[in-house]
Amino acid sequence: TASLAELDPEVAAAVAAELGRQRGTLEMIASENFAPLAVLQAQGSVLTNKYAEGYPGRRYYGGCEHVDVIEQLAIDRVKALFGAEHANVQPHSGAQANAAAMMALLDPGDTILGLDLAHGGHLTHGMRLNFSGKLYNVVAYHVSESDYHVDMAEVERLAKEHRPKLIIAGWSAYPRQLDFAEFRRIADSVGAYLMVDMAHFAGLVAAGLHPSPVPHAHVVTTTTHKTLGGPRGGVILSEQALAKKINSAVFPGQQGGPLEHVIAAKAVAFKVAASESFRERQLRTLTGARILAERLLGDDVVAAGATVLTGGTQVHLVLVDLRKSELDGQQAEDRLHDIGITVNRNAVPFDPRPPMVTSGLRIGTPALAARGFDDEAFREVADIVARALTPEFDATALRARVVALTERFPLYPTIPA
Ligand code: PLP
Repeated sequence: TASLAELDPEVAAAVAAELGRQRGTLEMIASENFAPLAVLQAQGSVLTNKYAEGYPGRRYYGGCEHVDVIEQLAIDRVKALFGAEHANVQPHSGAQANAAAMMALLDPGDTILGLDLAHGGHLTHGMRLNFSGKLYNVVAYHVSESDYHVDMAEVERLAKEHRPKLIIAGWSAYPRQLDFAEFRRIADSVGAYLMVDMAHFAGLVAAGLHPSPVPHAHVVTTTTHKTLGGPRGGVILSEQALAKKINSAVFPGQQGGPLEHVIAAKAVAFKVAASESFRERQLRTLTGARILAERLLGDDVVAAGATVLTGGTQVHLVLVDLRKSELDGQQAEDRLHDIGITVNRNAVPFDPRPPMVTSGLRIGTPALAARGFDDEAFREVADIVARALTPEFDATALRARVVALTERFPLYPTIPA
């Protein structure tokens, strides 16, 4: 019966400090967001106590009548949200979703074709130390050195040469939309499956503000906590013909008991994602990223040697190229951290600096949009970021402007400090 604060004051204090950090800084890590209070409540519920191996109506444990309702709601809602024939809402994370989807489609030793990690791909798309790089024969495609867009001619050439069993489209750091129809055409031409990992842009797809991969891909995977704004977790969508294979790859293939408290929070997030206010927030996310890109293309920033990769953005993030700047990625990340803005340094394609330093920043707008930022607030934050990347950097003045923004847009106002 003891509360967290009574039972474990050390953990309670660190949680409170983290709430303070989230409230008092500007979160611009492109993969982060603020889950609604209702999502936090579902995830912090008694559902955490329940074992439910299996699927709704076919469980290996008794007492699943209520979690069945919840998991079926999550399945039905996410299928409706994305127009998918089949959904598995059990993957514990995006990486688990990808592992299961690949297990369903591939045998160890099969060839996969994915975007190189150094060019914006994800670890699970074939990185050497990841399960994907160890289990499968990996061929990587790249962005072109001329415009930094994915080189579809190379994708086609590599597909014809290596005849992969799976082509993966999707990214963790890329500011443009992919041509899913073209990926499918190439996949069909070599008899490959197409898997789209929409982890980053799923919220934009749900809002109808980004092309949907669902009509084009055999399988679509996503996380639920990035632009989608829900609890940390994963989902696999597929055509009906693959439903059995996908389900058995998740359980018993990759996982044991599903996290029904997280699945409840996913169900809530899918309900939110179908609302008009969610669409309006995704619109502000996109506009905010465009405002940021435009400001970072300003004369003062360009004179300091920084530029925006691909010259802009069509999504919720901007990639800053610091290869010609005196600041490296680490220094730029530290500068922004010092004034209360959280971003992550990120290698740019063809980066001469080592991965722990990098020559880039990945800056995203989903969390600030969730906080209520409008165009005017995004113009202010864009100007702060821009000035932080120039030699006129005045930490004290910029920090004061950050504090003013955090006070104007209170976060989780009903949660006690
Ligand atoms: N796929 C993509 C494209 C991602 O960007 C990420 C997370 O960064 C993942 C999968 C993995 O998600 P998780 O961190 O939940 O395992």
